Parts: sequence; C-alpha cells; structure tokens
Amino acid sequence: MALGPRHLGLTLMVLSGWATPGLAQEDASLELVERRLGVMGTDLQIGAIGADTEKLEAAVEAAIAEIRRVEDLMTDWRPSPLLELNAAAGQGPVSVDPELARLVGRAIEIGRLTEGAFDVTFASVGSLWSFKKGREKLPEAEEVALALQHVDYSALRVDLEKSTVAIPQGSRIGLGGIAKGYGVDRAMAVLLEKGVRHGIVNAGGDLKVLGKKKGQLWEIAIRHPRDRERAIAVLRVSNTCVVTSGDYERFFEVDGHRYHHIIDPRTGYPATGCMSATVVAPDAAFADALATAFCVLGPEKSLEIAAELPRVGALLVGMDGEVHASPNLQGFVKDPRHKDG
Ligand code: ADP
Ligand code: MG
Repeated sequence: MALGPRHLGLTLMVLSGWATPGLAQEDASLELVERRLGVMGTDLQIGAIGADTEKLEAAVEAAIAEIRRVEDLMTDWRPSPLLELNAAAGQGPVSVDPELARLVGRAIEIGRLTEGAFDVTFASVGSLWSFKKGREKLPEAEEVALALQHVDYSALRVDLEKSTVAIPQGSRIGLGGIAKGYGVDRAMAVLLEKGVRHGIVNAGGDLKVLGKKKGQLWEIAIRHPRDRERAIAVLRVSNTCVVTSGDYERFFEVDGHRYHHIIDPRTGYPATGCMSATVVAPDAAFADALATAFCVLGPEKSLEIAAELPRVGALLVGMDGEVHASPNLQGFVKDPRHKDG
C-alpha cells in the first residue's frame, strides 16, 4: 500500500476496526532504522522502515534535525524566540517567526474549543510552579491569585498576515502543552518528504505512526496512570497519533497531596479532571493540546467534546480510576483491575 502525504491522517484504522491486511510477508524483509535520544525534555524515538537503509538513515537524521529546530524555537528552558516574545508582553504586536505565530493561533483556537481548559497563558501562573526534580516549588496562594488575573488566552492577539503576536502586560505564554506534538508532526512530515512510508515518531509517549510495522498495525499500549506495569488498553493503529497526558509523570507531593504539571487555568492549581487522558487524532499538535485540556475537564466533558470531532478518539481515566472511552475506542479497553488481562 503506497501512502503519500495526502493520505496521512485520513485513515484511523481503530475507528473502522479493520482486520490486519496481509502485508506481513512482503514486508518481512524490510529494515528498521531507529534512533533514540533526548529532545524536548523527553526520550525521542524515531523509526523508519523500508528497503534502503541509507535512505532511511538520512530520513531519520533529517527528522531529528527538524524536531530540534522546533525545540529551539519554542523552548522556555533557555533563550528562544518564544522567550523573546514573552519579554515583549505589554508592548503591543511584535513580529515573530511565522511558524510561532501560526502555532499560537492554533493554540487559541483549541482554547476556544475546550472552553479555556487549554490555555497557553496558563504560564502566567504556571511560571510560579516548578516540578523539576530537586527544585519543586509550591507557590503561595496570594501569588497564585494575583498571577491568575493574567491567565486569558482570549486576550492574545495574533495577526497571521503580518506575523505578529501581542501579549498583554503581565501575561506570558508557554507552549509545553502543544510543542511536543507539533514537533512530532514536523518530524513525521520530514520522514514522508524523504520517502519513508512506514515509521514512528515517539516523543516520550506522544507518538505518530505511519503505515505498518513490518506488515502489522502498530500496537500502542496505554499505561495505567497508577501502575506502570499495567495497560488499560492496547490500540492497533496506522497513520494516526496517540498522545497521553497525565498527573503521574511530572509531580511532587506535599502532605500527601499530589501537585502535577497540568494547570487548571480557572484556579492556577493542578488539574483535577483526569488522572490521564489519551487522545487519538490525525494531528499530534491537536492531540497533545486536547489531552492536556481533557486532564482539566474530566471524562464527561471531554467525551462530549471528542464526540464532535471527526477522527478523534479519547480514553480517559477519571480521578476515581474509572476508565472512559469514546465509542470508537471501546473495543480496545481492558479491565484495569486485572493484570495482563
Ligand atoms: P507532557 O508534556 O508530559 O506530555 P502535556 O502534554 O499534558 O504533558 O503538557 C503539560 C505541559 O503543558 C505543562 O508542562 C505545561 O508546560 C503546559 N500546560 C500546563 N497546563 C496547561 C494548560 N491548562 N493549557 C495549556 N498548556 C498547559
Ligand atoms: Mg499536551
């Protein structure tokens, strides 16, 4: 099966529950070229499958360079165009890289779609928190209340034609909830441009798969948010993304209370909607942002939003540990109470 860029994202096999077509034999001789490295504060795995090892290697290298380019543009851990933009808050519209303007524009749209649960200006209050190992910080309630006044994505102004962004005084943006997904999209686009027809880009569990893994659908296990050894579902997918956000990767505990890195823009405190949210969607940036928003919104509202979106699936673990799946993913869910079941 030949897949071109036009086809990427058009098939979400889990939705139709297709049986595995018999590509196994002809693909059995194909090579897998794989690289693993640290990017965007996470483990990146890029794999490409095909017949020409040299071509695959070049494609994987180009994809790595692309995701690093995205990181350089959007990181807030070191000087970057994003930090420069934040430094210009209150100065009206400032010129930015067109790619940055486009991503901020998309983030605002997802803010609207999720009724403000995804809000890149969360960073106005999020910057008071630190979830880094050994440097954890729980801010004072007064600081949180003050900073919360500056959390409002609808006050951002983006002009795509002029390529400007205006951030109000006192506000700042953080792209941590969408940049990784965007980087995955860009890396996969480069693999496709370089002629790769089967592959994976996986940034710490935010992943996009193309074609098949040696003739089989890609199998993606979704981890239980409280037990690394257990899977709550195994998705069999092709040409789509699977992205998970949760309260269990980056958190600290004080007096038995868990503080994690997804901030509820209404309170300035960590979200209490879901322990974990997995989104299946053709676009990784979109899936990444939605998964973050669903952790804020909780299972019921998230399923409502997902139901309105074409080719989107959601798998949510509520704060009570209950698993909720959108109708198109229900066949993949395991009973989380049973190991290996
Ligand atoms: P991970 O980075 O572990 O995959 P997420 O995709 O859920 O997890 O992103 C969490 C990051 O998103 C946080 O570290 C922060 O940078 C950013 N963020 C936190 N809360 C919000 C929010 N309400 N809206 C948008 N971005 C957020
Ligand atoms: Mg996210």
